[in-house]
Amino acid sequence: MASSNWQNWSGHVRATPTAILHPSDHAALSASLSESRGRVRVVGTGHSFTPLAATDQTLISLSGMDGTVLACDPPAATARLQAGASLNALSRDLQEHGLAFRNLGDIDAQTLAGATSTGTHGTGPEFPCLSAEMQEITLVTATGETVTASAENGADLLNAARIALGSLGIIVDATVSLQPAYSLHRRTFTRSLKDTLATAMDSWAQHRNFEFFCLPFCDHAFNIVHDATDAPDSGAKDNSDSNAVKQLKLLRGLLGWATPLRRAVLNRVARSQKPEDIIGPSWAMLANERNNPFNEMEYHLPVDQGLEALEEALSVIERERRDVFFPVECRMTGGDDAWLSPFQGGPRISVAVHAWHLDRFDWFFEHIEPIFRRRGGRPHWGKMHTLKADDLRQLYPDFERFTKLRRELDPAGRFLNPYLADLWGEPFDA
Ligand SMILES: Cc1cc2nc3c(=O)[nH]c(=O)nc-3n(C[C@H](O)[C@H](O)[C@H](O)COP(=O)(O)OP(=O)(O)OC[C@H]3O[C@@H](n4cnc5c(N)ncnc54)[C@H](O)[C@@H]3O)c2cc1C
Repeated sequence: MASSNWQNWSGHVRATPTAILHPSDHAALSASLSESRGRVRVVGTGHSFTPLAATDQTLISLSGMDGTVLACDPPAATARLQAGASLNALSRDLQEHGLAFRNLGDIDAQTLAGATSTGTHGTGPEFPCLSAEMQEITLVTATGETVTASAENGADLLNAARIALGSLGIIVDATVSLQPAYSLHRRTFTRSLKDTLATAMDSWAQHRNFEFFCLPFCDHAFNIVHDATDAPDSGAKDNSDSNAVKQLKLLRGLLGWATPLRRAVLNRVARSQKPEDIIGPSWAMLANERNNPFNEMEYHLPVDQGLEALEEALSVIERERRDVFFPVECRMTGGDDAWLSPFQGGPRISVAVHAWHLDRFDWFFEHIEPIFRRRGGRPHWGKMHTLKADDLRQLYPDFERFTKLRRELDPAGRFLNPYLADLWGEPFDA
């Protein structure tokens, strides 16, 4: 046990827990809850942008737990996975068993439990967020008791625990729906923003995975498509965004004051980007490295609102915020029925805005969030937003069911912190 400072990936959220615990197994985790009092938060790799895991009391990490793939059933395409393992480690080890996640987001550094608990998603209308792939979840509650929930035995708890922000218990392992290991053909190319928007719905229909990034002050978008293939691997891809982000920041510094010149230079740079055409294992094609820290807000919008919301956000950024240089990302995710899933009710288009980690991000809330809210958006649970219980109640038909179950499982509010108390509409006494 040791006292230490803690910060999230972007460095914006900082906390000084009195203790950071790394239980080495399930029994030690249960004991650490049953034999202690006071507040507890559980953390994955800290890739959320908000103070979900922040605490000045006890922080628990499962990073001391061994194992990735605990058991697997290739014919059923399912496996029992250690919840504190990273998606990258799990993907590599699943491949040894001939299995793979059906989809992944931009990165795979997060833990399975952390990613599940916030509704982490990739892109493709056929693919729901990772939380929907959880068939059975085992968690340790605030008293140290172990509970397992599946569709057959505890369907309500399963649908609540799929996305629960570490508020119902600490997930130790889960049975996850997967698919036989597969290769993807990845193609990236620049296309005019106008054409990208005009063909976006077709691209989502035609390709297994489609997403695009657009730049403020630029008339081009960076398209990424992935399609399944049986062709042999063709080598490693350039995983890092380092150079592109540095170039964009430099251009903002040099030409931020001269919009027409900035647009002309950005258009030229965009047109000169070399397309990428590469084949490899699914996880290696889908996930990237993100080496330039940023803060992010992402809303999931009804399909008929998503692209218009994106266009509106871009024009507001260009009118109001010449300092913005990070790309805006657009994806589509399939629906699911977890109680707090932003995708409950059907597929949604996700639009994400970013700010370099040392830049201000108050423009997210002043200029962009009102657009997303007016158009019926639901925020990503791990990314920045200003919503509290009264707003969330309007967006989630099962919100009251969730908060009732949360109170039953954690009546003393051990898993609360001030941020979560505001989300769930609970009082918080330090
Ligand atoms: C560079 C970057 C890229 C990203 N790309 C995407 C993307 O493509 N798609 C997307 O949807 N999101 C993306 N995200 C967001 C990220 O996937 C989520 O914030 C995710 O929750 C982070 O996982 P984590 O392991 O770091 O969890 P943390 O951020 O540490 O925790 C997240 C939540 O999970 C809870 N939690 C952690 N472990 C457990 C456990 N064992 N049991 C119960 N609850 C637990 C925590 O208490 C907290 O509430 C990205 C974030 C970054 C920084």
